[in-house]
Amino acid sequence: MSRLVQVESTPEFTESARPFRVDVPLQEFLQKSSVRTTLLPPSPEPQALPEPVFPMNSRTTDMKRSGFVYHSNNGVRAFRRWFVPYVQSRVMSDEFRPLLSYLFTEWKCNLDCHYCWAFDNSVKGMTEDTARRSIDWLHSVGCRVIAIMGGEPLLRPQFIHKVVYYGTKRGFFVYLPTNGRLLRPEVCDWIGDSGVAAINFAVDCVDEKPGLPKALKPIRSNFDYMVKMQRRYGYMVVFNMNICRNNMDDIKELTEIAHDHGISTDYHINETPMLEQSHFKHMQENETYLRPEDFPQVDALLDHLIEKNKQGYIMVNSKAHLGRMKEFMRGKVESWNCRAGHNSCVIRTDGTLAPCFPMYSAQYDWGTVENQKFDVKQLDEMKKDCNKHCLSTCQYVLGHYYNNQTVLRWIIKQALHGFSLNGATTAVAQA
Ligand code: SF4
Ligand code: SF4
Repeated sequence: MSRLVQVESTPEFTESARPFRVDVPLQEFLQKSSVRTTLLPPSPEPQALPEPVFPMNSRTTDMKRSGFVYHSNNGVRAFRRWFVPYVQSRVMSDEFRPLLSYLFTEWKCNLDCHYCWAFDNSVKGMTEDTARRSIDWLHSVGCRVIAIMGGEPLLRPQFIHKVVYYGTKRGFFVYLPTNGRLLRPEVCDWIGDSGVAAINFAVDCVDEKPGLPKALKPIRSNFDYMVKMQRRYGYMVVFNMNICRNNMDDIKELTEIAHDHGISTDYHINETPMLEQSHFKHMQENETYLRPEDFPQVDALLDHLIEKNKQGYIMVNSKAHLGRMKEFMRGKVESWNCRAGHNSCVIRTDGTLAPCFPMYSAQYDWGTVENQKFDVKQLDEMKKDCNKHCLSTCQYVLGHYYNNQTVLRWIIKQALHGFSLNGATTAVAQA
């Protein structure tokens, strides 16, 4: 769900933002020169997802697990679902081996964040047949981490219950982002019981603000229940925030609330769409877009967050990533190691593939589940351009871990801390 939009932050865009960030030739190539022809062929017999057993997990009747049990269980899960597939992907480095895949079950939303182009309420949600085939296919290519995405996935809570149930049964680390409005206690129990590994609460402010409806106040009771049940069900919680021109104080406050509740945080810089989005309504006069006069305040906020990171606040973003956001909002991004289309992918609601979320709406044919067509040369050529305009948290962190020195340092650190969760799962799990 909640991926966002960034500033095209050069002065000439202060009055009206540019509708896409990549250079014109790439925009035309991805959107116009190639028609997406491959669709997922229908199954001879449409497959259903199994009906979840509820309650199925003895954990629902357990009393609160201790901090030690909670952390060690999550450590073991992280090792199996992240680290083992990661090592396999390094050994089979020429193969398409996604470590993390985004399953867009929905492209509709119950909110309208003014920076967001990741929803269109005329698009049908994923079918059970496509969801099941996607999960089975991901399993066959060595992936063990699925982020369910939208839109708002919980528009269909029973469907998500089935996806989480089937995904965890097949051995996946399943991660669910939500704006929290529909995560009522009953739904929290369903998905917690079926083994969801992480819940990402997307919030931008404490109280609703113009253009920013993802606020904590309207979902406070859902949030409190979810946090209360965290150890019983064994999932992690992440606050996912988008830094906009009108929520900088809120970001600090939400960071403290997260810290007080022992949950992680994940930050993004507000951004305009990577490719042109014909359905996006708020391209012009958008009150959430950063402008050059905001940059000093954003710099100070990022310094504040880096300082909190140093103090031990649990964050998905590294200090380096937070630091690079300063260059990013000014339109200067140095090349970085993007693994999209190689070690990560997006499955759209209709089962077609894209390398990453910013390319969700591209018309280029990257194939479908069961028949991927990612081509290293095409991806490398494309990234010469889009990489200059992108600082995707997840892809950035993933790329960071495809560096031998980083991995060696990480292993030593994790070994010293008993392979606790914070290094691996929170590191790559974002949306
Ligand atoms: S909650 Fe906001 S950011 Fe998330 S999909 Fe809906 S409109 Fe987009
Ligand atoms: S740099 Fe990577 S994540 Fe960003 S748009 Fe390009 S392919 Fe996607």
